[in-house]
Amino acid sequence: MNTSQNSSDNNFLLKKNFEIVSIFLEYSNWTLALNQVFALVGEHVQVDRIYFFENHTDSLTGEELISQRFEWVKNGIEPMLDNPDLQNLPIEIVSDFMLPLHNNKPFKAIVREMPDGNTKEILSSQDILSILVLPIWIEGKMYGFIGFDDCTSERGWGEEELNFLQSTTSNLSTAISRRNAMLEVEKKAKELERINQELEQFAYVASHDLQEPLRMISEFLKLFEKKYAEVVDEKGKTYIRYAVDGSIRMKKIILDLLEFSRVGKNINAIEEVDIEGLFDDLKLLYINKIEASKAEINLINPIKLLTWKSPLEQVLMNLLDNALKYAKPDFAPKIELQIEEQENQWLFHFTDHGIGIDPQYFNRIFVIFQRLHTKEEYEGSGMGLAITKKIIENMGGQIWVESEPKAWTTFHFSLPKPK
Ligand code: ADP
Repeated sequence: MNTSQNSSDNNFLLKKNFEIVSIFLEYSNWTLALNQVFALVGEHVQVDRIYFFENHTDSLTGEELISQRFEWVKNGIEPMLDNPDLQNLPIEIVSDFMLPLHNNKPFKAIVREMPDGNTKEILSSQDILSILVLPIWIEGKMYGFIGFDDCTSERGWGEEELNFLQSTTSNLSTAISRRNAMLEVEKKAKELERINQELEQFAYVASHDLQEPLRMISEFLKLFEKKYAEVVDEKGKTYIRYAVDGSIRMKKIILDLLEFSRVGKNINAIEEVDIEGLFDDLKLLYINKIEASKAEINLINPIKLLTWKSPLEQVLMNLLDNALKYAKPDFAPKIELQIEEQENQWLFHFTDHGIGIDPQYFNRIFVIFQRLHTKEEYEGSGMGLAITKKIIENMGGQIWVESEPKAWTTFHFSLPKPK
């Protein structure tokens, strides 16, 4: 072979390898990709069957087994994928065959010349005349092997052919580990989803079922307070007040938890929302607080947008509630909402000029029941922002905060535009 022929052969092999890598990189269907790659290799090296076996252990006995996972056959050649003898095959039955593979060496044989034994019997029963098997190594362990059968001739495998098949095998190893990693991620995502649903269900059931006994406690406490007012001394009355106060707070927590578990359950259809109208309704809801504190509330750009109205209303209500609550003492609250239209989303900026938040707590405030103040300083259950975050994420957006302590706080959140 002259040099130019050599380099054109090399180019050809490079091209084939490139095709193989591309198929593996772009696959959306694993079986189809394997079939395409094995067909390409099979036609190129003119073999009759290509297959891959995976090593695994029997979960009960711990025995090491091999099983055929995938096969490509040339037209007219009998497939072996359904052959039960090639599933759960104990490794020691074919130990002569497995030995070189475990040492990261190929196994090559002309079946007629092999010593009598299990391996020869198994290969002959599949009409194999000559065979080449290459080990698949993943993360330092032999994962399985890929085999090439010739059922029509007793061939010796040339060096160039061997190199090509070795690089195919290494591409297959990479593709298998990539696929395994992807399957693992998918499994984890499903698991997370399931745990999430269970937690939501738990929160719902627990908070729902706690309401009734709590109602009984507070009703009877009130009755007790009324009926025995004469008998109970001042200390006793104080204790009862504490108990009533505790049950009122507990009721708020239960209702918040219930609301948290319900977020996203009853999402209605998307509609055109007039932010100005929605904001005016909210201001009306807080009219007493607004008037008492002389709060100044401004909507910078009164736009209309397409979204889910009631979750957005709930978000703005929670933010407004906090902005009024965490105002600077002795200063009239100053609050503004600005909305920015971007290509695929709307960005909301909700700013107050209140007490601000230390940056070290930027993440913590969105976690359920996390508060930065005692109930004596500011009323609250620590659920408002957790609910707000869940609502926004349910609508496909994100929320984050920026703040300067003792100066201002801006909650930014995005809402994707409906497709
Ligand atoms: P709650 O107000 O019931 O405590 P939230 O989940 O709404 O619960 O808020 C969590 C914590 O974040 C609050 O306890 C408060 O410390 C802080 N926070 C929320 N909004 C503001 C704000 N606008 N300015 C300053 N601190 C805030």
